[in-house]
Amino acid sequence: MSSVDLLEQEPELYQPREPIHPKSIKGRFRRFKTTIMMLAYAIFFLLPWLRWARPVGPDQAVLFDIPGRRFYIFDLVIHPQDIFLLGGFLILAAWLLFFVTGLVGRAFCGYFCFQTLWTDLFMKVEYWVQGDRNKRLKLGRQPWNLEKIGKKGLTLLIWTAIAFWTGFTFTAYWADTPQLFVSFFTMHAVSAAYITTGILTATTLVAAGFAREQICIYMCPYARFQAVMFDKETLLVSYDAQRGEGSSGRKPLQKGLMALEERHAAGTGDCIDCNLCVQVCPTGIDIRDGLQLACISCGLCIDACDEIMTKRGWPDGLIRYASELEIETGTKPSLLKFRTIGYGVGTLLVSALMIYGVLSIKPADFSVRQVRQPLFVLMSDGSIQNNYELKINNKEQTPLDLKLEVEGVKNAEVSISGGFKDLHIPADGTRNYHVHVRVPGSSGVSRQVIIFKLIDEQGKFPPIQQETSFNYK
Ligand code: SF4
Ligand code: SF4
Repeated sequence: MSSVDLLEQEPELYQPREPIHPKSIKGRFRRFKTTIMMLAYAIFFLLPWLRWARPVGPDQAVLFDIPGRRFYIFDLVIHPQDIFLLGGFLILAAWLLFFVTGLVGRAFCGYFCFQTLWTDLFMKVEYWVQGDRNKRLKLGRQPWNLEKIGKKGLTLLIWTAIAFWTGFTFTAYWADTPQLFVSFFTMHAVSAAYITTGILTATTLVAAGFAREQICIYMCPYARFQAVMFDKETLLVSYDAQRGEGSSGRKPLQKGLMALEERHAAGTGDCIDCNLCVQVCPTGIDIRDGLQLACISCGLCIDACDEIMTKRGWPDGLIRYASELEIETGTKPSLLKFRTIGYGVGTLLVSALMIYGVLSIKPADFSVRQVRQPLFVLMSDGSIQNNYELKINNKEQTPLDLKLEVEGVKNAEVSISGGFKDLHIPADGTRNYHVHVRVPGSSGVSRQVIIFKLIDEQGKFPPIQQETSFNYK
C-alpha cells in the first residue's frame, strides 16, 4: 500500500454495533437469573404501593419526601441531620461490591445490575413477540413488510410501556403513590413528576432496548476498574482450554471424532465448536477467547455448554466458574485469601458502623443561638440577663416532654417566653423558644461557657446538651 493510499484511508474511530440476538437457554444459571429478576421487579415495582402505619407522617412504607425533608424507610425516619447514613450506605455498597468481586468476579453485573435486569426483560419481550434467535435474525434480514412492522412495532410498544412504568415507579418513591397516580393521569401532577418520568422512560428504553451491552462495555465505570480486584484465585466464568482444545485443537463432531475416546486418541479437545456458548451470550462474545472486559459473568454460556455435554453424555463443566489458577494447575481456589479477608473485614466494619449509626440516632436534637443584639441586658435590680433562641426537633413518632436546665453559670435562673415550664414537642415536630437566663450580678469575668441541657421527662434517652456563652459585659 502506497503512502498516498494510507493517507486517503479513513481511520476507523468508531466500530459500528453488530446487533446481538441471544438464543434462549435453560439451565441453573438461567433459573437463578430469572429468580433474581422476579424478586428485584417485585420489590422495585410494588414497594411504592406498600402502605405502612405511622403515628405521624405519610402512610407509605418507603418515601423520599423532599419537600417535608424526611426519608421514610419503614420504621426508620431519616432527617436532614442524619443524612450521613446515606453516605454510609453508599460506602457499604462499595465494600460489598469489592468483596463479591474479589470472590466471584463480576457476579453483580451478571445477576443484580439494573442494566442487566432490564435488558434481560426487554430481550424476553423480543423473544415472546418475535421468536427465538433464528426467527429474529430472519426477521431482521427480511424487508419491511407488514409482519416485520407489526412485530417490531409491538416489541417497541411493550418496551415503551415497561420503560414508562419504570419511570413512573421511580417517581412514585418521591411522592404519595396513590395520589401521584391520580394526579399524574389527570394531568394535575407537578411538572417535576412528568420530567422525571419522561427522563427515566427515555433512558430505560435506550439503555435496555437499544444500547444494551454497549453500556456494559463502553459506559460502565465498574467494568473498567473491576479487573484490578481480580487475582489468580478469583472465580470467573472460564473456558477450560486444556480440556476443550486438547493437543490438536477443537473440532466439530465428525466421523471418527464422535466419541470422547476417539477424540482424545486423536488429540482433539472436548469442544465440538457448536458455537452455542457464543449464541446465548448477551454481550455477543466468545468465552473461549479468554477473560474479556465484555463478559458480565452471567453464566449463560455455562448452561449452554453443559446442555451440549449432557446431551452427549460427557462430563459437564467445560465452561464453568473457575479461577485462573484452577484452570492452569487444577488447584481449587482458597476463599481465605488476604484480599478477600480484607474486603470482608471492611464490609463487616462498615456494616457495624452503619448499625451503630442507625441505633444511635438521637430522638431529638436542638440548636441554641445567643441573641447578640443586645449581647446582655443590665436589669433594674442589678442582675444580668442574656437571651437565647432555642430550636428543638423531635425526631420521634411520639410527642416529647422535655425539661430545660442550664449549667456552667452560678445561680442562673431560666425562664421561657410565654411562661412555659416544660417543653412539649409534638411527634416529628419542631418548636422554637425564646429563653432568658438571668444571674444576680457580675462574676468578674466578661463571659462564661453556659451549657443548655434538655432532659426527657420520661427518661427514654439520656440528656442532650449544647454549649454557648453567657456574657456579663
Ligand atoms: S461469556 Fe458467558 S458469562 Fe460472559 S457474558 Fe457471555 S454468556 Fe455471560
Ligand atoms: S458450547 Fe461448549 S462445546 Fe459448544 S462451542 Fe461452546 S465450549 Fe465448545
